Amino acid sequence: MNAAKNVVVIGAGPAGIAAAIAANLRGFRSVVLDARMPPVDKACGEGILPHGVAALRELGVRLDAGMAHPFFGIRFLDEECLAHAAFSGEPGLAPRRTRLQQILIDRAIEVDVEFQWGARVTHVDSKFFTTNEKQIPYDWLIGADGQNSAVREWAGLRSSAVRRERFGFRRHFRVRPWSDGVEVYWGEGCQMFVTPTGPEEAGVAVFSRDPQLRVEQALERFPALAEKLEGAAPASKELGDTTSLRRLPEVTVGCIALVGDASGTVDALTGHGLSLAFQQAIALADALLQEDLPRYEAAHRKIMAMPVAMTRLMLLMEGSDTIRRRALRLFEETPGLFSRLLSIHSGAVPLSSVSAGEMIQFGWRMLRA
Ligand SMILES: Cc1cc2nc3c(=O)[nH]c(=O)nc-3n(C[C@H](O)[C@H](O)[C@H](O)COP(=O)(O)OP(=O)(O)OC[C@H]3O[C@@H](n4cnc5c(N)ncnc54)[C@H](O)[C@@H]3O)c2cc1C
Repeated sequence: MNAAKNVVVIGAGPAGIAAAIAANLRGFRSVVLDARMPPVDKACGEGILPHGVAALRELGVRLDAGMAHPFFGIRFLDEECLAHAAFSGEPGLAPRRTRLQQILIDRAIEVDVEFQWGARVTHVDSKFFTTNEKQIPYDWLIGADGQNSAVREWAGLRSSAVRRERFGFRRHFRVRPWSDGVEVYWGEGCQMFVTPTGPEEAGVAVFSRDPQLRVEQALERFPALAEKLEGAAPASKELGDTTSLRRLPEVTVGCIALVGDASGTVDALTGHGLSLAFQQAIALADALLQEDLPRYEAAHRKIMAMPVAMTRLMLLMEGSDTIRRRALRLFEETPGLFSRLLSIHSGAVPLSSVSAGEMIQFGWRMLRA
């Protein structure tokens, strides 16, 4: 057992704080360093899927209705079709990013996690990390420094080629949410994503391959959504970021492990990033306790499998109008199929339960839709 050892976490995003909480709950002493000062905002749809909410609960983080707005399912819409499915169990939750960070910080402080804000880490090797020109030793080091992770580079954990880089922008509007689910509007070359983030507020995001396409311009392509937002005042600054499918052959080396976006990403349209980070945080702390990082490698691969499959499906729809139209028609005409997909997407049903026969049937129906 390794319980007295110290854990240094680089990055106080959701993944880093969750990893520190999980480690301290297993008896480690964690310190989290972040180059920025809280509250740290970031372009994010802010929806946490039900299995992400369950992982947070495991960390002792309980989000009630005053902290995060619930959403009960997902709606896919295009100019012709509407497919809707509800989660089979508990709802997802959508806290504003800055609020989520504060909630995580509060829980981390409760379990004695230490924070160093405004502390940029400038180098990591197999024994020391450097911040403010000081070299400090560590027992375990967790790289939670986001999708452009420098820890990943320093540790030599290179990713396979980044696939399908896209751009996402998000802005909040003061409006009473008209749906109790997350809505995904599919159009030619872009998608819009609406998350109810409060009783009088919704987060609106756009995803495309065009780095110039902002929320206001994209709304011109979605008149039904534009109508719902007509007259709604913006309630936040527009923030943007890139999103892609990035996988790493390995997420650990020596006493270093990566978690969250640093350890690989799926397309943001899937809404999986936060849930992945919380699940990985728990798996990593379990592996640290056993001093068994290969155990984390295996768990990480398993956690990523379904969101990667969902990314592939969504990118297929994103890349071809014909496939997107057929898929949406099929989902509208076969609500049972869309519900089953959502059950897999939200972690209620394992991906492994999908048989080869079902996959063939799905492909065949797509061809006929
Ligand atoms: C437009 C968009 C919409 C999205 N929508 C959703 C959604 O609806 N649901 C969902 O689950 N996910 C969504 N995601 C994905 C989600 O935002 C990410 O998966 C999540 O933020 C990853 O958290 P993280 O902690 O790994 O990284 P980050 O949140 O990026 O945190 C990294 C932290 O590391 C710090 N850092 C970096 N380098 C250093 C250094 N050298 N020294 C010290 N500190 C450092 C940074 O300051 C930062 O605070 C979306 C992403 C985008 C782009």
